[in-house]
This record gives sequence, C-alpha cells and structure tokens, in this order.
Amino acid sequence: MKPYNYGKCEICNTPIKEILVNQDFWIKGELVVIVDVPIGACPQCGEKIVQADVGHIILEILNDHKAIACAPRVEVPNVPFKKNNFLSCTSSFAKVGE
Ligand SMILES: [Zn+2]
Repeated sequence: MKPYNYGKCEICNTPIKEILVNQDFWIKGELVVIVDVPIGACPQCGEKIVQADVGHIILEILNDHKAIACAPRVEVPNVPFKKNNFLSCTSSFAKVGE
C-alpha cells in the first residue's frame, strides 16, 4: 500500500504519523486480532485516523471466514473475576509488573 498523507491532526494541528497497530475484534464469541494495521496517530494528543481503504480491507478480512479459520491461534489469559487468583502460581510471567 502506498504511503498515505494523513495531513494534520484536526484537534491540535500536529502532523499525523502512520503507525502499525493490532486491532482486536470479537467475532461470534471468538477474539480475532488483525496484526499490523496501518493507522494514522497524532503524536501529540493521540487522535487516531483510519483511512477508508484500510477500513474496507479490515471488513473484507473479518468477512473472510477461511482466512480466520486458517489463521494461527495464540493463547490468551482467561482470568476469573475474583481477587487473589492463582496465589501459588509459579509462572515466570508472574513477576512481571511487581
Ligand atoms: Zn492531535
């Protein structure tokens, strides 16, 4: 896709920069993440802009059941809604953010 000129932020007039983000969608109870979606983001205020073409491609991907069915799966944490979960857990990830 060729570079797109996002122009300036409508809120703070800062030039918008293109970044790649992972966009998540819930499709029929399944979490689907589209990886490296190019969007415009304002480095000053965080305003985000999605070009119309990118929006169309996202819709096409979300309607492409074969692509979703064949895409690799990753595990995500499923944490019960209660305090002091997994007190005896020894996962190396348990240290993160302490
Ligand atoms: Zn801005």
